[in-house]
Amino acid sequence: MIPVVMPTYSRADVVFERGEGPYLYATDGRRFLDFAAGVAVTALGHANPYLIKALTEQAHKVWHTSNLFRVAGQESLAKRLTEVTFADTVFFTNSGAEAWECGAKAVRKYHYEKGDKKRTRIITFEQAFHGRTLGAISAAQQEKLVKGFAPLLDGFDLVPFGDLDAVRKAVTDQTAGICVEPIQGEGGIRVGSVEFLRGLREICDEHGLLLFLDEIQSGMGRTGKLFAHEWAGITPDVMAVAKGIGGGFPLGACLATEKAASGMTAGTHGSTYGGNPLATAVGNAVMDKVLEPGFLEHVQRIGGVLEERLHGLVSEHPAVFKSVRGKGLILGLVCGPAVGDVVAKLRANGLLSVPAGDNVVRLLPPLIIGEAEVEEAVGILDKTAAEISGEMA
Ligand SMILES: *Cc1c(COP(=O)(O)O)cnc(C)c1O
Repeated sequence: MIPVVMPTYSRADVVFERGEGPYLYATDGRRFLDFAAGVAVTALGHANPYLIKALTEQAHKVWHTSNLFRVAGQESLAKRLTEVTFADTVFFTNSGAEAWECGAKAVRKYHYEKGDKKRTRIITFEQAFHGRTLGAISAAQQEKLVKGFAPLLDGFDLVPFGDLDAVRKAVTDQTAGICVEPIQGEGGIRVGSVEFLRGLREICDEHGLLLFLDEIQSGMGRTGKLFAHEWAGITPDVMAVAKGIGGGFPLGACLATEKAASGMTAGTHGSTYGGNPLATAVGNAVMDKVLEPGFLEHVQRIGGVLEERLHGLVSEHPAVFKSVRGKGLILGLVCGPAVGDVVAKLRANGLLSVPAGDNVVRLLPPLIIGEAEVEEAVGILDKTAAEISGEMA
């Protein structure tokens, strides 16, 4: 019999009843150090008092009004996002996939409004992940995402990640833009180099294309900059954001320059819930914390400490952990044994992590962890690797 919850996930058999900072407590009493953070979502940890206050205060006022009216929380959050990024304007959504959809639509609409109506195609990258809508799976084209869901949306040209020559060859008079994750998350923490990201910006400038970044996982402080593209010293024209921006409340955003959003006029796009008062109250509270002086520096520093310790684990357990990937607190360990087994054994030892492509264990801790949590996590990784090595011997 089919489970009452549609079985599209193979879920771990654990139910959490409570969280506190970087820890989750299961109904059976077990405590877990949460280096999954709801897949890079709970950036400020669980049950953060500041977020609870923002959410409950708003809950006593007004939950939802639709976007037929002005929403104060949207206006303040959009103002702050535009002040600290390349963007001039923001569309709010409930999820990453919707933020990405808005971006893809904006890219096409821009050229349409310019009168360049044949420019509809977007160059995307192998092993990309942009969400589960028909548009987003059509863009990523990974077998496991698209199998059985044809016909897909036309208009996406896939090239190898990191390959600027392949991008140049893929540009035609129908190309509208390039969409890329600065760091591929689901794909296996594959970091786009500075040269690659700068090269994409140059190709866009040369051909009049829009650069559309998916920073749904890499953004909101995760790499130690507010957004990962800042490390390359470039700016996009359009950017999808979600996950960390809501700290656990469903919220996403599509950011764009005035030019790139020029076609997104009244009636062209919408969302009933997107950026509702509850979501944007939390989003503003997350921004308060992430923009506090020293917050991003902390992520850089503690991410560096964790990364160094991970390199140590690779030297000590080369059969289990092959190499380290990532930046800041979006880190990955390439595994020798099947990543699913490694993630399950880490969980049994009290550490939550997330599997990714390329047989990588993803470590996406809340951005507020300190040295004690790094030590605890490394201890569990070390112990688990020793157990796995024992089994392999
Ligand atoms: C998670 C993710 C998405 C999809 O976000 P949802 O909120 O699950 O729709 C898109 N792109 C990237 C890079 C992501 O990590």
